[in-house]
Amino acid sequence: MQVRTRMAPSPTGEYHIGHIRTLLYNYAFAKKHKGSFIIRIEDTDQKRLVKGAKDKILKVIKDYGFDWDEGPKKGGPYGPYIQTQRLDIYKKYAQQLIDEGKAYYCFCSSKRLDKMRQEQKKRGELPKYDRRCLSLSKEEIEKKIRNGESYVIRMKIPDNRIIEWEDVIRGKIKVPSKDIDDQVLIKSDGIPTYHFAVVIDDHLMKISHIMRGQSWIPSAPKQALLYEFFGWQAPVFVHLTVLMDPDGKGKMSKRHGSVFAKSFLDEGYLAEALLNFLMLLGWNPGTNQEFFSLDEFIKIFSLEKLHKSPATFDRKKLNYFNKHYIQEKSNEDLAKLLKKFLPQVSLKILIELSPLVKERITKLSEVVELTKFLFKPIDYPVEMLLQRGADKKLVKEMMSGAIEVLVNLTEWGETKITQEKLLKLIKDNGWNVGQFFMIFRVALSGQKITPPIIDCLKILGKEKCLKRLKKATEI
Ligand code: GLU
Repeated sequence: MQVRTRMAPSPTGEYHIGHIRTLLYNYAFAKKHKGSFIIRIEDTDQKRLVKGAKDKILKVIKDYGFDWDEGPKKGGPYGPYIQTQRLDIYKKYAQQLIDEGKAYYCFCSSKRLDKMRQEQKKRGELPKYDRRCLSLSKEEIEKKIRNGESYVIRMKIPDNRIIEWEDVIRGKIKVPSKDIDDQVLIKSDGIPTYHFAVVIDDHLMKISHIMRGQSWIPSAPKQALLYEFFGWQAPVFVHLTVLMDPDGKGKMSKRHGSVFAKSFLDEGYLAEALLNFLMLLGWNPGTNQEFFSLDEFIKIFSLEKLHKSPATFDRKKLNYFNKHYIQEKSNEDLAKLLKKFLPQVSLKILIELSPLVKERITKLSEVVELTKFLFKPIDYPVEMLLQRGADKKLVKEMMSGAIEVLVNLTEWGETKITQEKLLKLIKDNGWNVGQFFMIFRVALSGQKITPPIIDCLKILGKEKCLKRLKKATEI
């Protein structure tokens, strides 16, 4: 069997980080088996469509480093890959079910349906269509259609049946058919519902494995039944566990930080760190190995090692991965990534900056605060100079001494020589080394925390350094 997996985003909002995990597993599984990974846009819920969402989702998928073998913008043998461009296909299959008595027209107004549901609720029953239209004769149906009455097409759920299907993670799942509503397959505007379109498309696109979030489990019995109605072989179902917040209080939520795939990248998490983190959120290699490239993951990913219980989205762990991947970057590569956060700074300077910040940031965005003194005017309260009990007189002496040393340097930016000369100055005056450098740092940056300050002199430039030190002597 040819492995074909898919992601089927609905353009109803932003892609969640959980979607990226699901995508990663689908992608890896297809690639491992030399199969195909497909993207299909499920845009049948017209009321919930968000303008621009489709392109944003496709972009974020690419930003995480993925590409698809078939799908929007690319095409493929089973296209189109956008559901609203496939409406005739769904109609044909809905008609087939009607002809076979497995689906029926329903002309009930939404007013009637609302009333019906309210009454059912009052009686403590599960809201379900009461099948009033199931008893319409062929002639009545034809007449109503001729008169232009609006209708939907409903699936006829068989009575007294147990509907069962096999889920790779959860085993056999069984649902009594009495708990399932006669699902709408085609809405009054002629557009199919998710449940119907997904089955038709997964079948026609020859999807072999469906991996998706566990929130889709309630849809699975209806889908399993549709495969049965059509006499089609159902794909393998894999409903992944949910991502939980670390406090164990439920599904991952915005309370703890970003949840959208794009915002993690915007904050300066590296795609490879996020992917590595996500690999282990719901799957384990069965060894102690922690770091995996996507290629390594593809080689060893298997459905058997998927977790059965929910995974905790531990942001501390994510930070740990991100720090690791930042430190692994070459200066050139890190500089290119930093450019997004410091667009005004040249690549040449960013390459010089990279080794200075590499060990000091957890997320790329932190570089902005950490290095703002290098690129922007500084402003700090005078008292900040009075480090470790220094008085104004001492600050003046120290900074005047520093100016003297720096002015006389033959080459600007020679870290080692600069350091030696400053240490000599400190020693000659009997000053405290730590205190001197704290004051020196504040004078040059207005910050208490910076990359190694002597390393920063080169990027800061002689003129700016001397000016800032001079200002510190004028307190
Ligand atoms: N369109 C659904 C979504 O938005 C796809 C669900 C599925 O994978 O079957 O996630």
